[in-house]
Amino acid sequence: MSTCDLPAYQIAELIRAKQVSALEVLEDTLKRVKQVDGRPGEVDAPAAETVEDRAAVHAFTLVTEDYARQQARQIDSQIQAGEDPGPLAGVPYTAKDIFTVRGIRSTAGSKILSNYISPYSATVVERMQEAGAVLVGKVNLDEFTYGSSSESSAYKPVPRNPWDTSRVTGGSSGGSAAAVAAGEGAISLGTDTGGSIRHPASFCGTVGLKPTYGRVSRYGLIAFGSSLDCPGPLARSVTDAALTLQAIAGQDPRDATSATVPVPDYLAEMAKDIRGLRIGLSEEFFRVTYFDSESMELVENPIDDQIRDAVLSAAGFLAQLGADIVTDVPLPHTKYGVPTYFVISRVEASSNLLRYDGVKYGYRTSAPFADLRELYRKTRGEAFGVEPKLRMLMGVYLSAAQFDKGYYQRALKARALIRQDFEAIFDPQGDYRLDALLTPTAPTTAFPIGSVYGDSVLMQYSDQLTVTTNHAGIPGLTFPVGFDREGLPIGAQVLGPDYSEGRLLSVARAYELATENEDWRSRRPPILADNGS
Ligand code: GLN
Repeated sequence: MSTCDLPAYQIAELIRAKQVSALEVLEDTLKRVKQVDGRPGEVDAPAAETVEDRAAVHAFTLVTEDYARQQARQIDSQIQAGEDPGPLAGVPYTAKDIFTVRGIRSTAGSKILSNYISPYSATVVERMQEAGAVLVGKVNLDEFTYGSSSESSAYKPVPRNPWDTSRVTGGSSGGSAAAVAAGEGAISLGTDTGGSIRHPASFCGTVGLKPTYGRVSRYGLIAFGSSLDCPGPLARSVTDAALTLQAIAGQDPRDATSATVPVPDYLAEMAKDIRGLRIGLSEEFFRVTYFDSESMELVENPIDDQIRDAVLSAAGFLAQLGADIVTDVPLPHTKYGVPTYFVISRVEASSNLLRYDGVKYGYRTSAPFADLRELYRKTRGEAFGVEPKLRMLMGVYLSAAQFDKGYYQRALKARALIRQDFEAIFDPQGDYRLDALLTPTAPTTAFPIGSVYGDSVLMQYSDQLTVTTNHAGIPGLTFPVGFDREGLPIGAQVLGPDYSEGRLLSVARAYELATENEDWRSRRPPILADNGS
């Protein structure tokens, strides 16, 4: 077995015990990338057209081979010198190309940053390095993280799902989820603004953790919606997610919104018994409610039965382990999650995108321009894709003074109501006194490439079960709970009150242990067998 298929904690143990070197582990990973990934994403490159292209994962925008070798050698010499390189010693990982890494191209999946070499590293990247992890490369995403399929990236070919390469990876951290699922690095760093860690993690059958807002520093993260953005890990096991959170969590003087709350020992929290925990189920999370612009009415659709059954069966396992399952939990404002997100995220995105102007850094038009405004216009016209353009226009419109009361102020009120829904169910003195809520992560499993892309409203409804978490600022952890009839992974998520990451990890870990010997646990993405990996 290749070290690519081992969990991060085992890799680090083997390296620290000198049973394998960090360089050997890295070479295994680089070999796996060569076997399954195909050509890396490039701006203005052709989309996947050949048979080989369609059968490859295309998780990467950049493989940082030399940089990684240097880091791995450094880890090996620390080990030789009897020093401890850290809890993630020699663990290969990837970073969504939304994190800056000093001296390395950081693109956000956009042509406008296609030539941007960052002069500084994100705090989370520095912390991964301090923990001993080795950066194998940057991975693809929806442009500026705007999407739920990773298809809007300017870097083609876009990532494909290792479980079925005719399908999307989910998004926007699609490269992260695909890389982890295909064994191209044990861990990936992603970001979650409306579901972008959890959604692709569920589509690709991995674990994904969106921490409490402020738990992990946003410094060096190319911004989307600053009041919603959360960096976090994707991994193949709950333990690896806990280890990674341990490495990256904690206050950062460079991010004024980072929390000063002490960071617990997540591995110890994860190992706690779940007996007696009150875990809720809410019907609000088993349907999708959307506004039908033809009938002008709110339409309710139940989510796929197979997803429902898988999540309810996970609840059954948790009950057997001694958790109290509480049904019919009311979260009446869940249905306003997407419209509220639509307004708030567009307003914040349009404000954050203003910095890309062709003057300070990034792409600049090579066409002649008469004045500054024309320089801006041509640069942005040429280098922003459709999603950022739509979101900028929408954000500027929604925040215009004359509409402010009707849209933005109203969205802020709805956001407060969504937060109150969660506060009520988690209140230790309230009617429900829940420790966690168990829900499906996404209303569907991975859909075919090209089937939703282009309909940005439909795409946005992929996030209905994840966005309210971001509005409320609370943590959410997705973990695999089985497969549908087409062999596509299904994810369930646990949500909890602020800073309850440790408890969420304990629930997911208990489930993981209880299902260790289920048949579906031994499945591997077909792409690995096809490539003899
Ligand atoms: N899919 C959502 C969107 O399009 C969420 C993206 C995210 O979390 N970054 O905005």
